[in-house]
Order: sequence, then structure tokens, then C-alpha cells
Amino acid sequence: MGLDSTTEDIDIKRFTIEAQEGDTPSAQENGSLGDRQSWTIEQSEELYRINGWGEPYFSINAAGHVTVSPKGDRGGSLDLFELVQALRKRNLGLPLLIRFSDILQDRIERLNACFSKAIARYKYPGVYRGVFPVKCNQQKHLIADLVRFGQPHKFGLEAGSKPELLIALASLTTPGALLICNGYKDQEYIETAMLAQRVGQRPIIVLEQLEEVDIAIAASRNLGIQPLLGVRAKLTSKGIGRWGGSSGDRAKFGLTVPEIVQAVDRLQEADLLSSLQLLHFHIGSQISAISAIKDAIREASQIYVELAKLGANMQYLDVGGGLAVDYDGSKTNFHASKNYNMQNYANDIVAEVKEACEEAQVHAPTLISESGRAIASHQSVLIFDVLGTSDVTTALPPPAANKEHLILRNLYETYHSIRVDNYQEAYHDAIQFKDEAISLFNFGYLSLRDRSRAEQLYWACCGKIQQIVRQQEYVPDDLEELHKIMASIYYINLSVFQSAPDSWAIDQLFPIMPIHRLDEEPTQRATLADLTCDSDGKIHQFIDLLDVKDLLELHPLKPTEPYYLGMFLGGAYQEIMGNLHNLFGDTNAVHIKMSPKGYQIEHVVKGDTMTEVLGYVQYDAEDLVESIRKQTEGALQDGRITLEESQRLLQNYEQSLSGYTYLSR
Ligand SMILES: *Cc1c(COP(=O)(O)O)cnc(C)c1O
Repeated sequence: MGLDSTTEDIDIKRFTIEAQEGDTPSAQENGSLGDRQSWTIEQSEELYRINGWGEPYFSINAAGHVTVSPKGDRGGSLDLFELVQALRKRNLGLPLLIRFSDILQDRIERLNACFSKAIARYKYPGVYRGVFPVKCNQQKHLIADLVRFGQPHKFGLEAGSKPELLIALASLTTPGALLICNGYKDQEYIETAMLAQRVGQRPIIVLEQLEEVDIAIAASRNLGIQPLLGVRAKLTSKGIGRWGGSSGDRAKFGLTVPEIVQAVDRLQEADLLSSLQLLHFHIGSQISAISAIKDAIREASQIYVELAKLGANMQYLDVGGGLAVDYDGSKTNFHASKNYNMQNYANDIVAEVKEACEEAQVHAPTLISESGRAIASHQSVLIFDVLGTSDVTTALPPPAANKEHLILRNLYETYHSIRVDNYQEAYHDAIQFKDEAISLFNFGYLSLRDRSRAEQLYWACCGKIQQIVRQQEYVPDDLEELHKIMASIYYINLSVFQSAPDSWAIDQLFPIMPIHRLDEEPTQRATLADLTCDSDGKIHQFIDLLDVKDLLELHPLKPTEPYYLGMFLGGAYQEIMGNLHNLFGDTNAVHIKMSPKGYQIEHVVKGDTMTEVLGYVQYDAEDLVESIRKQTEGALQDGRITLEESQRLLQNYEQSLSGYTYLSR
């Protein structure tokens, strides 16, 4: 495959926009700020940072829609908004996960091309044989694609558990590709892996516990098989950030250096030292600083050459996962980013290992990486719609007919006094009067209508002050919060717990943006609230160039049009870790492949029906219907319901059972 751009983050070809000046409709139609200048798609690009995190797959076209170029720089793109419309016509409801298998292929090509380039550049006397860690995304069609796309590179799989081993054994059909067997193992796991050697697989059993050494020795004796073994080292070099705990002396996994030496001795006693061929380490996922990777490689390279000196038949060095994804596009060592690109990563690994081996006169290993996030994140896009919004109303209530309570008159006065030179003071006055009004209400001195007016006046003051604040270059600290309290809430047809569990659990950031109307100024500032009845079911942190932002810029809803948002880069880990909170099930998913005529839908994987999710908690649909039927019969006999009503209730109930767990509009 003619992949010319392997340096994914540097040398980026600036996305050029075909739109002419003035192509974009002016923003008059769409919102409250009538005197806005027209908004350009370049402004949207900058605002949502799509060139930073989206290159080379996602961009914005002249129509103001997100476009997808699944083959990266190698041509062919499609309009994501139009694709969603077309899929909806095929009865695929939102939320909808769209997978682009070409992106998956492009990621594999890129990773292999980066290592090829590094190997050529440093004249490395060995090869690269990557594996995909199945835990990142176990979905059947994805694993099948991965194996197929990986064939030219002998790309293999990594299993981290017994069920993943079963997937890997059945799926990996590429001759010569490696099957790395990680995770906690029992006798059955180890035997199965060893026996797989007999059918032509190349399973390497990575010993992570001393007990596994003994099980492996016993299994090898029983089966009469000379296994391929590796050891996982607990490095002292630490990963940084959220997943940094995967290394260090007290990490959950791997053998300490004294334990590795013990393992070598036990294998030697059992005459199996020649089976020990691989050293593995994994310092954590999303390693955002290249320095942490370099430190780990240096330490691991030394362990590798020392193992060779101890007489092990060393052939492979497996650097684990950790290759990061730039979720915010900032190219920094911030946890949502990374300060290196894929080529830097490959270069540093190749160069470090080469140097250590040359120095020690040990032959250079086959290099393995277990990059999961970097392979699987980009391939899927989650599309969801906005069901409604909640905004604060800042309209000034009409003056009262009669003389009002003093507190209300004060609030009116405050409102009329707001100017550029006193807005800070006016803000504090408004807060104070509003608080006083609530106290008065609590003591019975203000009626419910008066309290309502007080709150309306307060919000009117805030609205007027915010208009001024927006035009100021410098905003005093105490007014920063104004934007947050004035923010809209957009209700999204999604469960964060199901579709973006890491956003809820560990505040992971994913790029989120509208996929259309990007030629209109997004005048609203919003947080997102999901469908679950859980106050944690919200998204209130968004990617930004500096740090994170609390509010996302969005467009006001139009009464007759759907408003679609996309969540990007969520193709790794999210699907399998999603949970059934409030019984929102798996979303619909489609697999899209580019074709000479545009695109084709390869697979449709329907999301869970209510019957299915209820089944997970042991409810049987027929029993449920039967219970409702009995209740309606009873009510019919007592004359509490008409026959039509009872039929309608049963019909709705049964229809819901076979339907999607999300809302349809
Ligand atoms: C999770 C894991 C990986 C994948 O890590 P990424 O950061 O997603 O590339 C690789 N190897 C092991 C042992 C893991 O546990």
C-alpha cells in the first residue's frame, strides 16, 4: 500500500477548504445575537480543534458538515451528516456507532510503516511484528478486519484473559503472526496455548507470576511440547498519568527482577531455558510523555540483554501498549494528549534497543508492540441527537402594575443601572438582592409570584452583565462563574455509562462537536446531560488547547430540525466497559467501507432491544406481558379500563419490549 505520510503529526498537510469567501451563509438566521458577523468553517475548525485531533480522518467541508476520509491521505471522503441521514432512512435509530473499517486499516498501515521506516533509518537488524490487544475492542467484525488488514505485516493478537485467548485462537489465521498470551493463567489456559502450537499458531506464553512458571513446566512435561515462553517485567521506570500504576515495584502485574532470576533458574533446572524467548513490559496506557517511554525501553533493553547473557534464547522484545492518542490535539504531555508522534515512538524504540544490543553483542530482537488505543480509537464515531435544552431565561419581566416589594424594586434598579463601568458591582448587588428575596420568601414575607419575579429579575441582570463580560478582554475572577451558571443544558439521547464510560469514571476527554451547521456561529454555551437518572450522567469537560473547558459551544436548536453531535476517538475500551445503568443497552452500530462508488454498509449490528436488556437481569418478556395482561383483564372486569385502552396498553408494552432502549424522535 502506498502510504507516504507516516509522520502523522508532523508534516501535516494543512486541510484546505474549498469554500470561497462568502460561501457560508450569514449567521442572521440562527440565533439571538442579531449583529453577528458571518461565521466561517475555519472558525469552527479552530473552535473544535478538529485539525488537531482529527487529522487525517476528520475535517469540515464547505457545507459546514464534518467529513470523514477513512483512508486518510489516500483519498475518498464522505459527508458524515449525509451518511447519518441515509442511515436513519434505513431505520437505524440514534445513538448510532459508525465504524470505518478503512480507518482501522490505515492505523495498522501507519504503525507498521513507522516501524519499517525506523528500522530502515537505524539499520536495525531485526523486524517488527505488532499485535493487537483484544481487550481494547473484542467486537467480532473488528477483530476479523484487524486480522485481515494485518496479514501483509504478520500482525498478531494479544490475549489478556482466557476468553480473549479463545477469540484470538479462533480468529488469528495469519501464518507467522504472533499470539501473545498475557494475563493471569491457570493450567487450562497454559495447556490450551501450548497445544495451539501443534495447529500452527505461534502462541508465546508470557509468565506474569512465579506460579505460572511451575504450571508451564508441568504442562510442557505432560504434553511433551517445547513451549514458547516470555516473562513480563515489573519495571522501575514509571508510566505517568492515569494508568501509570501498571509499572513500578508494587505494580499489579509482572515479575520483579529477583523473581525473573528465579524464573530463569527454575526453567534452567527443567531444561526449558531455551523456551524463554521473550521479554515483555507494559508501563500503562496513554503514555503522554515520550521521556517515560524512553526510560522504560532503556531499562527493558538492559534486562533483555542480561537475560540473553544468562543463557535464555532471547528472540523478542515486547514493549506493550501505551502509544497514546491525541484526544485534544494539543501535542502536549497533558493526559489527553501526547508530546510525540507515532514515528518518534518507533524511532526511540528501535534506536534504544539497537544500541543496547550492539553494546552487549546480543542479537537484535524482533520488536513487538501491543498498541491498542492507537489502533482502535479513530475507527468509530458515535452519533447522537439532542432531545432538548434547558436555558435560563434572561428576558426582563414587565413592570408590575402596583407598587412592588422593595427587594423587587432594588432588583429593577440594579438591572437598569448595569453599565460597562459598574457591571462587577452590579453583579454582586444582584446576587445579594436575590439571596435576600429568597430569605424573605422563606420567612413568609414574599409571595410565590414575587419570588418568581425576583428570580426572573436576577437572571435578567445576569444576562445583561454577561453581554458586557463577553466583550471584555479581561474578566475579573468573580465573574468567571457567570458563564457556567448561565450555561445551557443540552439533553442528549445517550447514556454516558454505556457509550463513554471513561468520561464518567475517570474524566477522560473525547472530542465532541456538532457534525453539521459548522458554517453557523455556535452561540450557546452548554454542558451535556444524558438520559440516565443519575447526576453523574453528564459531560461537563471538553477538550481545549489549554487544559480543558467547562462548556461546549453549540448551536441553538431549530424546532423542526434534528441536531446531531459526534463523539470521536472512542473506539478503544468504551464499548466493552459500557454498562447497563438505567438499562440503556448497546447502541446500534454499522460498519462502513469505502467503495469505488462511495461507500457500502458492510454490517449492521442492531443495538439491544428492551427484551434483551431485561433478559440480562433475568426478566422474561413473556412473563412480563402476561403480568400486564392479567392486570388489564382484572381492570376490564371491574370496568376500570375499556377494551380499546387495554389493547393500547398491551400493544405499547409489547412494542417497547422489541424496541430500542433509547428515545426515538
Ligand atoms: C491494556 C494493555 C495494552 C494496550 O494498551 P494501549 O495503551 O491501549 O495500547 C497492551 N498490553 C497490555 C499488557 C495491556 O494490559
